[in-house]
Amino acid sequence: MTTVGILGGGQLARMLALSGAPLGLRFLVMDTEADACAGQFAPLLVGDYRDEAALAEFASRVDVATFDFENVPAESAEWLAQRIPVFPNPRALAVAQDRMVEKSLFRRLGIPVGEFAAVSARTELEAEVARIGGPCILKTRRLGYDGKGQFRIRTAADIEAAWQALGEQASSVGLIVEAFIPFERELSVVAVRGRDGEFRTWPLTENWHVDGVLSASLAPATVDAALAQSAFGHARKLAEALDYVGVFALELFYRDGQLLANEMAPRVHNSGHWTIEGAETSQFQNHLRAVLGLPLGATDTLGHACMLNWIGAMPDAAAVLNQAGGHWHDYGKQPRAGRKVGHATLRADNPTGLAQALQQAGDALGRQAQVAPVVGRLLT
Ligand code: ATP
Ligand code: MG
Ligand code: MG
Repeated sequence: MTTVGILGGGQLARMLALSGAPLGLRFLVMDTEADACAGQFAPLLVGDYRDEAALAEFASRVDVATFDFENVPAESAEWLAQRIPVFPNPRALAVAQDRMVEKSLFRRLGIPVGEFAAVSARTELEAEVARIGGPCILKTRRLGYDGKGQFRIRTAADIEAAWQALGEQASSVGLIVEAFIPFERELSVVAVRGRDGEFRTWPLTENWHVDGVLSASLAPATVDAALAQSAFGHARKLAEALDYVGVFALELFYRDGQLLANEMAPRVHNSGHWTIEGAETSQFQNHLRAVLGLPLGATDTLGHACMLNWIGAMPDAAAVLNQAGGHWHDYGKQPRAGRKVGHATLRADNPTGLAQALQQAGDALGRQAQVAPVVGRLLT
């Protein structure tokens, strides 16, 4: 009997546990919160990631460890890795935790990125905004997620407000200023690399964000094959450079026929949730296979899929469940503004069928605005 330990007990851990059940796996989830939603399906160890006693108990009860939460302190991951196998390795986790280190690695590997610079003082921010020219975005280097810890600088007049908002974090989590990319599309590569180095990707996914939070994902993205190949090449280079094992996502901006890397996520990713019903093997199943050294499953798509995120509160399930290709995921979380509480995936054999199903579900739920960009893409 193999027990997989997961650091972080949110919906990603929950879906990993659900996906691992047919493989006969047991799980132990560690989280700082007693009501972590993965705890509804797997034993939950409540503790602080920096508490050595809690980590020691976790290590003693699992055969291998992985992550649902990308901001587990890198030192804690390192401490665990000295005792049990940990995938992805702590170095990969550490790189992905710091936007400055991450973007510098992208650049070193020849993966195109927009202009960026670390800033530690307001005068430095002014100088870098002037150097970059045009709109910028100030972000915390560490601990940001769902667009939190970001401030858009449209003109130099916004620098004061940006520094007011984030300046005090310069000495704790660090700050980075980036060129604002007026992208035409956002795309992501969800990829998996096995312990033996085997590398696979799912088809490119197109993503739509609202207020910095993922709203909808469409797969396969309607982009030309050469562009997809170049995106896969970037992901592969990154995985090999980090000796990465498991699933990860590489977020990309598309503009003027070019791809620019935004960030990587060292874990299963929200833009890969569609793979549960829309691919031969889901990201969750392949992550577990990779971490355990099992053969990876095929990543081919089953038709066309769109995932819709439910933020804040769950809508009525019936509007999705009464669609032939409608699938529902309720994470069992308490509703709270801005919180990811569930998602739906709609699947169809062709783009027109998917557009129709999305339109019907969107109308029934009063969520026309959420489905509109996806429907628009499918019908062009
Ligand atoms: P995630 O939840 O994806 O981890 P995050 O908080 O780490 O989010 P980013 O992915 O960097 O933050 O930014 C969130 C969204 O904000 C992006 O998907 C994109 O829509 C927008 N954004 C971020 N950086 C830029 C940029 N340099 N230019 C244009 N848009 C940007
Ligand atoms: Mg991020
Ligand atoms: Mg992101």
